[in-house]
Amino acid sequence: MMRADLHVHSSASDGTDPPAEVMRRAARAGLDVVALTDHDTVAGHPEARAAAGPVTLLPGMELSCRLDNRSTHLLAYLFDPDQPGLAAELARIRDDRVLRARAMVDKLADLGVDISWDQVAAIAGQAVVGRPHIARAMAASGAIASPREAFTRDWIADGGRAYADRYALDPARAIGLVGAAGGVAVLAHPRAGRDTWVTDVQIARLAAAGLAGLEVFHPDQSDAERARLLALAHDLDLVATGGSDDHGSLTGYRLGCEITPAEAYRDLLSRTPGGPAAVPTTGPPRGQS
Ligand SMILES: [Zn+2]
Ligand SMILES: [Zn+2]
Repeated sequence: MMRADLHVHSSASDGTDPPAEVMRRAARAGLDVVALTDHDTVAGHPEARAAAGPVTLLPGMELSCRLDNRSTHLLAYLFDPDQPGLAAELARIRDDRVLRARAMVDKLADLGVDISWDQVAAIAGQAVVGRPHIARAMAASGAIASPREAFTRDWIADGGRAYADRYALDPARAIGLVGAAGGVAVLAHPRAGRDTWVTDVQIARLAAAGLAGLEVFHPDQSDAERARLLALAHDLDLVATGGSDDHGSLTGYRLGCEITPAEAYRDLLSRTPGGPAAVPTTGPPRGQS
């Protein structure tokens, strides 16, 4: 029985573990395939590939999009990150993430939270800076007891007092860019929460724009919503995928808690513009990495 977790984060974005450690944990969790899907970056792929061991690395990314004023996430797999159209958008998203994080630090200062941009940048290190890094700086300053507490309306949750909006792609456009770069796109956790809810009608529109799959099996989606999404995936000819959305200690180490069925995984691969030939690179045999 093949086990594929197609939604995983590392410290290349807002996960807590370096890519190599993520792959070692994946091996220990008995996974056959892991998609490293850091937010708006593929920077973790080389390290993950080198440490893949017995696990197959499916190169991926979680793209920040906005649909009708709501934050929407799109999982992309097997694309060429150097394709000019996609690369330009990625650079724009990353540059804007810095401006946005700085804006949130400024707002926090106005609210009496004593953290500096330098602290946040130091915590982020080489990673794409994001709200979890700000949350950790807030906890370190004593403003809150733990990073988790930053994600409320009092602080930096969506629409919170110190929240700053950012540049994000239109998902239909993002689907086109991913396809042009030879990859496939899957709508991430469309029913995980009120702030990121995607309606049936919106999903149908994205399917018409070339969406390949729907993330059905996600820890934050109820059984009722999974059933609804499965029916929708069937009606719209979308692949029903699954993943843990593991962020290391931030999400309580849950690699492999949700997986993509083997048949769905093969179906997804077959939908790349290059066809089934575009199989992911496998890590070196055990013991040689
Ligand atoms: Zn997401
Ligand atoms: Zn995610």
